[in-house]
Amino acid sequence: MGDLRKPAPAAFIDRDGTLIEEVNFLSRVEDLRVFPFTAIALQLLKDEGFRIVVVTNQSGIGRDLYDEAAMHSIHDEMQRELGGLIDAFYFCPHLPGAGCECRKPNLGMIRAAEAEHGLDLASSWMIGDKDLDVATGRNAGMLSAMVLTGYGKEHSTKLDFAPDVIADDLLAAARMIIESRKARESLIDSSEVENPRT
Ligand SMILES: [Mg+2]
Ligand SMILES: [Zn+2]
Repeated sequence: MGDLRKPAPAAFIDRDGTLIEEVNFLSRVEDLRVFPFTAIALQLLKDEGFRIVVVTNQSGIGRDLYDEAAMHSIHDEMQRELGGLIDAFYFCPHLPGAGCECRKPNLGMIRAAEAEHGLDLASSWMIGDKDLDVATGRNAGMLSAMVLTGYGKEHSTKLDFAPDVIADDLLAAARMIIESRKARESLIDSSEVENPRT
Protein backbone atom coordinates (compact mmCIF):
# COMPACT_ATOMS: atom_id res chain seq x y z
CA MET A 1 0.00 0.00 0.00
CA GLY A 2 1.03 3.62 -0.49
CA ASP A 3 2.55 5.85 2.13
CA LEU A 4 -0.42 7.19 4.09
CA ARG A 5 1.43 10.36 5.12
CA LYS A 6 1.83 11.44 1.54
CA PRO A 7 -1.03 12.62 -0.72
CA ALA A 8 -1.66 9.90 -3.30
CA PRO A 9 -1.90 10.32 -7.05
CA ALA A 10 -5.30 9.57 -8.54
CA ALA A 11 -6.54 8.39 -11.88
CA PHE A 12 -9.73 10.41 -12.33
CA ILE A 13 -11.68 8.44 -14.92
CA ASP A 14 -14.76 9.32 -16.90
CA ARG A 15 -17.45 6.61 -16.94
CA ASP A 16 -19.41 6.47 -20.21
CA GLY A 17 -17.29 5.65 -23.24
CA THR A 18 -14.15 5.22 -21.10
CA LEU A 19 -14.83 2.49 -18.49
CA ILE A 20 -18.03 1.22 -20.10
CA GLU A 21 -19.65 1.34 -23.50
CA GLU A 22 -21.26 4.65 -24.38
CA VAL A 23 -25.04 4.27 -24.28
CA ASN A 24 -27.03 7.44 -24.67
CA PHE A 25 -28.32 8.15 -21.11
CA LEU A 26 -27.64 4.70 -19.64
CA SER A 27 -30.45 4.07 -17.17
CA ARG A 28 -30.80 0.29 -16.79
CA VAL A 29 -28.34 -2.22 -15.35
CA GLU A 30 -29.29 -4.59 -18.21
CA ASP A 31 -27.75 -2.14 -20.70
CA LEU A 32 -24.42 -1.84 -18.81
CA ARG A 33 -21.42 -3.15 -20.80
CA VAL A 34 -18.12 -2.83 -18.96
CA PHE A 35 -15.29 -2.91 -21.52
CA PRO A 36 -13.39 -6.22 -21.40
CA PHE A 37 -10.07 -4.41 -20.70
CA THR A 38 -11.31 -2.17 -17.89
CA ALA A 39 -10.45 -4.45 -14.95
CA ILE A 40 -6.89 -5.03 -16.20
CA ALA A 41 -6.35 -1.32 -16.80
CA LEU A 42 -7.58 -0.36 -13.33
CA GLN A 43 -5.44 -3.06 -11.70
CA LEU A 44 -2.32 -1.77 -13.49
CA LEU A 45 -3.02 1.77 -12.26
CA LYS A 46 -3.72 0.59 -8.71
CA ASP A 47 -0.50 -1.44 -8.64
CA GLU A 48 1.29 1.79 -9.56
CA GLY A 49 -0.22 3.55 -6.53
CA PHE A 50 -3.07 5.44 -8.19
CA ARG A 51 -6.42 5.83 -6.45
CA ILE A 52 -9.24 5.10 -8.89
CA VAL A 53 -11.86 7.88 -8.84
CA VAL A 54 -14.76 7.92 -11.29
CA VAL A 55 -16.03 11.41 -12.20
CA THR A 56 -19.16 11.37 -14.32
CA ASN A 57 -21.61 13.97 -15.66
CA GLN A 58 -25.08 12.43 -15.31
CA SER A 59 -27.41 15.08 -16.64
CA GLY A 60 -29.96 12.32 -17.34
CA ILE A 61 -30.89 12.76 -13.67
CA GLY A 62 -31.55 16.50 -14.16
CA ARG A 63 -33.53 15.65 -17.30
CA ASP A 64 -35.69 13.19 -15.27
CA LEU A 65 -34.68 10.31 -17.56
CA TYR A 66 -33.63 8.23 -14.54
CA ASP A 67 -33.08 8.83 -10.84
CA GLU A 68 -30.07 8.62 -8.54
CA ALA A 69 -31.10 5.16 -7.30
CA ALA A 70 -30.95 3.80 -10.87
CA MET A 71 -27.48 5.31 -11.31
CA HIS A 72 -26.28 3.81 -8.01
CA SER A 73 -27.55 0.38 -9.14
CA ILE A 74 -25.36 0.72 -12.23
CA HIS A 75 -22.35 1.74 -10.12
CA ASP A 76 -22.92 -1.20 -7.76
CA GLU A 77 -22.97 -3.58 -10.71
CA MET A 78 -19.79 -2.01 -12.14
CA GLN A 79 -18.04 -2.58 -8.79
CA ARG A 80 -19.29 -6.16 -8.70
CA GLU A 81 -17.98 -6.88 -12.21
CA LEU A 82 -14.70 -5.08 -11.47
CA GLY A 83 -14.07 -6.76 -8.12
CA GLY A 84 -14.31 -3.47 -6.20
CA LEU A 85 -11.38 -1.78 -8.00
CA ILE A 86 -13.02 1.66 -7.94
CA ASP A 87 -12.16 3.69 -4.81
CA ALA A 88 -14.84 6.36 -5.24
CA PHE A 89 -17.59 7.60 -7.54
CA TYR A 90 -18.47 11.29 -7.98
CA PHE A 91 -21.34 12.41 -10.19
CA CYS A 92 -22.95 15.64 -11.34
CA PRO A 93 -26.74 15.26 -11.69
CA HIS A 94 -27.33 18.76 -13.09
CA LEU A 95 -28.32 20.02 -16.51
CA PRO A 96 -25.74 21.62 -18.79
CA GLY A 97 -26.11 25.37 -18.37
CA ALA A 98 -27.44 25.07 -14.81
CA GLY A 99 -24.30 26.85 -13.63
CA CYS A 100 -23.30 24.21 -11.09
CA GLU A 101 -19.73 23.82 -9.87
CA CYS A 102 -19.62 20.06 -10.34
CA ARG A 103 -20.32 19.49 -14.03
CA LYS A 104 -17.07 18.78 -15.93
CA PRO A 105 -15.07 20.77 -17.02
CA ASN A 106 -15.74 22.55 -13.71
CA LEU A 107 -13.78 21.16 -10.78
CA GLY A 108 -16.37 20.51 -8.05
CA MET A 109 -16.01 16.72 -8.23
CA ILE A 110 -12.21 16.90 -8.41
CA ARG A 111 -11.99 19.28 -5.43
CA ALA A 112 -14.34 17.11 -3.36
CA ALA A 113 -12.28 13.98 -4.10
CA GLU A 114 -9.04 15.82 -3.37
CA ALA A 115 -10.34 16.88 0.05
CA GLU A 116 -12.00 13.59 0.95
CA HIS A 117 -9.22 11.25 -0.19
CA GLY A 118 -6.01 13.27 0.30
CA LEU A 119 -4.95 13.34 -3.35
CA ASP A 120 -2.00 15.00 -5.05
CA LEU A 121 -3.38 16.61 -8.21
CA ALA A 122 0.03 17.47 -9.69
CA SER A 123 0.81 13.76 -10.10
CA SER A 124 -2.78 12.79 -10.99
CA TRP A 125 -4.32 12.11 -14.38
CA MET A 126 -7.73 12.76 -15.91
CA ILE A 127 -8.75 10.10 -18.43
CA GLY A 128 -11.79 10.40 -20.68
CA ASP A 129 -13.29 10.28 -24.15
CA LYS A 130 -14.51 13.88 -24.52
CA ASP A 131 -12.92 17.29 -24.92
CA LEU A 132 -14.50 18.32 -21.62
CA ASP A 133 -12.54 15.55 -19.86
CA VAL A 134 -9.27 16.87 -21.28
CA ALA A 135 -10.32 20.39 -20.25
CA THR A 136 -11.10 19.16 -16.71
CA GLY A 137 -7.58 17.77 -16.38
CA ARG A 138 -6.08 20.98 -17.66
CA ASN A 139 -8.26 23.16 -15.41
CA ALA A 140 -7.16 21.14 -12.37
CA GLY A 141 -3.44 21.26 -13.22
CA MET A 142 -3.39 17.51 -13.84
CA LEU A 143 -2.07 15.48 -16.73
CA SER A 144 -4.69 14.26 -19.18
CA ALA A 145 -5.24 11.22 -21.36
CA MET A 146 -7.83 10.94 -24.10
CA VAL A 147 -9.16 7.53 -25.11
CA LEU A 148 -10.54 6.88 -28.59
CA THR A 149 -13.42 4.69 -27.38
CA GLY A 150 -16.87 6.26 -26.87
CA TYR A 151 -16.89 9.78 -28.35
CA GLY A 152 -13.08 9.81 -28.45
CA LYS A 153 -12.56 9.53 -32.20
CA GLU A 154 -15.02 12.36 -32.86
CA HIS A 155 -13.79 14.58 -30.01
CA SER A 156 -10.08 14.07 -30.72
CA THR A 157 -10.50 16.19 -33.87
CA LYS A 158 -11.97 19.20 -32.05
CA LEU A 159 -9.79 19.61 -28.98
CA ASP A 160 -9.03 23.08 -27.65
CA PHE A 161 -6.00 21.73 -25.75
CA ALA A 162 -3.82 18.76 -26.60
CA PRO A 163 -3.97 15.98 -24.02
CA ASP A 164 -0.66 14.60 -22.70
CA VAL A 165 -1.58 11.17 -24.04
CA ILE A 166 -3.96 9.91 -26.75
CA ALA A 167 -4.60 6.16 -26.55
CA ASP A 168 -6.82 3.64 -28.32
CA ASP A 169 -8.54 2.67 -25.08
CA LEU A 170 -8.22 2.71 -21.30
CA LEU A 171 -5.75 -0.18 -21.19
CA ALA A 172 -3.43 1.51 -23.69
CA ALA A 173 -3.80 4.76 -21.71
CA ALA A 174 -2.93 3.00 -18.43
CA ARG A 175 0.24 1.56 -19.97
CA MET A 176 1.27 4.94 -21.40
CA ILE A 177 0.60 6.69 -18.08
CA ILE A 178 2.77 4.17 -16.22
CA GLU A 179 5.57 4.55 -18.80
CA SER A 180 5.38 8.33 -18.56
CA ARG A 181 5.57 8.11 -14.77
CA LYS A 182 8.64 5.88 -14.90
CA ALA A 183 10.28 8.29 -17.38
CA ARG A 184 9.63 11.20 -15.01
CA GLU A 185 11.03 9.25 -12.06
CA SER A 186 14.21 8.34 -13.94
CA LEU A 187 14.66 12.00 -14.91
CA ILE A 188 14.46 12.93 -11.24
CA ASP A 189 16.92 10.13 -10.36
CA SER A 190 19.45 11.24 -12.98
CA SER A 191 19.25 14.89 -11.91
CA GLU A 192 20.03 13.75 -8.36
CA VAL A 193 23.11 11.90 -9.63
CA GLU A 194 24.27 14.99 -11.49
CA ASN A 195 23.71 17.19 -8.47
CA PRO A 196 24.63 15.02 -5.48
CA ARG A 197 23.60 16.45 -2.16
CA THR A 198 26.61 17.00 0.11
MG1 LIG B 1 -17.56 9.89 -21.58
ZN1 LIG C 1 -23.43 19.62 -11.13
